[in-house]
Amino acid sequence: MTKVALVTGGTRGIGFGIVETLYDEGFLVACLGRKLNPTIETLIKKSKGNVKFIEADIGSIESINTAVNKVVETFGRIDLLVNNAGVAPKERNDILKTTPESFDFVLDINLKGTYFMTQAVANVMINQTYDVFIPKIINVSSLSAYASSTNRGEYCISKAGIGMVTTLFADRLAEYGILVYEIRPGVIKTDMTEKVSEKYDKQIENGLFPIKRWGYPEDIAGVVSLLSSPKMRYSTGDIINVDGGYHI
Ligand code: NAD
Repeated sequence: MTKVALVTGGTRGIGFGIVETLYDEGFLVACLGRKLNPTIETLIKKSKGNVKFIEADIGSIESINTAVNKVVETFGRIDLLVNNAGVAPKERNDILKTTPESFDFVLDINLKGTYFMTQAVANVMINQTYDVFIPKIINVSSLSAYASSTNRGEYCISKAGIGMVTTLFADRLAEYGILVYEIRPGVIKTDMTEKVSEKYDKQIENGLFPIKRWGYPEDIAGVVSLLSSPKMRYSTGDIINVDGGYHI
């Protein structure tokens, strides 16, 4: 049976790396995102129907539910969900000055979006049958889930909250054989880190990340691939740090 993966925010950065890797491994991949770009369009063309773009705003629960229904209409089922879509605050701001608008913007996409996407897909997964593949949900949070940055509190809180989303759904879905994991990336070269790349260059040089190099989307995609393997079958609710060895 062909396996179907749904990847949110799959049009660029880490998400695109995950879509590409899962496609290479033989998944049918639904790439959910806000809009197409030449990178994902090229892969869609090459894939001859095995990768499809489905428009979705992860900050809207209505849009999440519509998109999940569309994935099921398109590919017939969902075996793997990767909750990757996420945003940083538009501007970094001391926590003494966080605005409610920025708080809602970040929390709606990163935390509420992850929660309700997980809920929608879990309700699909529960009603399917499986052969050797084990249905899984993988949440992409961040080392900011445990390392505080006082100039982007809303981001840290959103990622810490994903920790509980992982625990809750791991507990609730274990009886259906659905396993849930969380990946916490460190500093990964993408559009998200572009504006602050010099700061991270220095931290990497100074050994804050002992492996002493940037992470790349393929580094995260590789761990998604490992976690999605049926060999990973007797653990759930676990967190994997993929951060070049960072520790507080
Ligand atoms: P990115 O900005 O390059 O990509 C983010 C993706 O999410 C894009 O495809 C974007 O369109 C999508 N997205 C954002 N808001 C959306 C919405 N409302 N609806 C649908 N899609 C939406 O960032 P990235 O670095 O690839 O980040 C991917 C994930 O990894 C995020 O959750 C981010 O918080 C997390 N992360 C990144 C780093 C890093 O260093 N880059 C570190 C830790 C965690």
